[in-house]
Amino acid sequence: MVSNKLVVLGGGESGLGAAILGKSKGFDVFLSDRGRLHDQYRKELIERGISFEEEQHTESVILDANVVVKSPGIPDTVPLILALVEKGIPVISEIEFAAQYTDAKLIAITGSNGKTTTTLLTYHLLKDAGFNVGLAGNIGDSFAWQVAEKAFDYYVLEISSFQLDNIISFKPDVAVLLNITPDHLDRYGYSFQNYTDSKFNIIKNQTAENHFIYFDDSEVIKTELEKRDVLSKKLGISIDHSVENGIFLEENQLRSNFDKSGFSQDFDKLPIKGPHNAINAMAAILVAQIVGITEDKIKEGLLSFQNAPHRLEKVEVINGVTYINDSKATNVDSVFYALGSFSEPVVLIAGGVDKGNEYGQIEELVRKKVKGLIILSVKYEKLRDYFADIVPQIYITQDVEDAVKQAKKWSEPGDVVLLSPACASFDLFKNYEDRGDQFKVAVRNLA
Ligand code: ADP
Repeated sequence: MVSNKLVVLGGGESGLGAAILGKSKGFDVFLSDRGRLHDQYRKELIERGISFEEEQHTESVILDANVVVKSPGIPDTVPLILALVEKGIPVISEIEFAAQYTDAKLIAITGSNGKTTTTLLTYHLLKDAGFNVGLAGNIGDSFAWQVAEKAFDYYVLEISSFQLDNIISFKPDVAVLLNITPDHLDRYGYSFQNYTDSKFNIIKNQTAENHFIYFDDSEVIKTELEKRDVLSKKLGISIDHSVENGIFLEENQLRSNFDKSGFSQDFDKLPIKGPHNAINAMAAILVAQIVGITEDKIKEGLLSFQNAPHRLEKVEVINGVTYINDSKATNVDSVFYALGSFSEPVVLIAGGVDKGNEYGQIEELVRKKVKGLIILSVKYEKLRDYFADIVPQIYITQDVEDAVKQAKKWSEPGDVVLLSPACASFDLFKNYEDRGDQFKVAVRNLA
């Protein structure tokens, strides 16, 4: 018998899903996690008779695999992965693995920012139009798990660059690339080109019958497109010029000329605001048009969409000051768009774990709009030194309640207090949700 040993590295949501799918497809599965497993996940593995280990990686077993599904959290540079590659054992992502076992149409959404919003909105448009559609990737239940146990006709997948690193044959029917701005460079040898190449893996296997939706205002994307031989049908998105084949923003109207549709929607009527969300909405509209949803249905879905929390989320208005939670803004580009969404003076709360940030992109906006910068961070020197001569006042703290109290002192009616950190949250919080939740509690305590 052909040996079919599947090793799954990392027992999070995606790893567990890959193990379950592997088992259902007849693989001899072994899951290995260097940390402790979530109690619920351990229970699932035991109930399903899947072998696993925790708090260790037994190399002799792992290096005996025929194929390895690696969690996106494990860098390609760790010795264990290098040893697998050296032995010629394929190391793939959960997305790659699961895609091999479904005939569903795949809509894959990537970018440095806007993935979750666009994925949720696209899913909402399809679901609202009555499609049998699953939501997966970085969001919700694992893709592999759903492939094992559900029978969707479509999947809307939020795809991170880490998942794209280990792609071999993944071929989405529709690929969306929202933007490429510096992020996670620590995982790409501090090379922006490496990170860009990873993002472009989303179209690596696409052919002429597939669609590629991309942000046409991005110089990085346009330069890459010129370098590459792209087979897919290309559709552009723009917020600053009309595009011949795609969708663009003109006088607050989202105008699509996909298939000569003449689609038009007043952006101001949508529940999501800011120029970045115009881009996200336009991407979702194009996908909806490609899969054949009518204009009326698309409009209905756009108006009834509710975004996930922590993305420019309005928390409270207290004494005329609006408090906004944008904790998910973990890189500089997202802060650029967050600041661009307000005309009011802003007290900005930023900081956390720096992922190789370059602050030049927001310097002018900060100078124009930010009346005070509160650095909520263990390491604060880089932000403080960069903005020392740019903002009138800087306050440094490691306590979210203290940060919010200081913001209250600095703000006047009509101002905005904006938590938009440009950094990861792991120095002071469990994750960005925890940071946003603690911010919201602190704000509500002010009232
Ligand atoms: P992701 O899943 O890629 O992190 P989200 O939809 O969760 O994206 O948004 C993360 C942050 O990025 C938000 O705080 C928002 O302010 C900003 N953002 C959202 N969409 C875009 C976009 N298209 N371009 C730039 N920034 C964006």
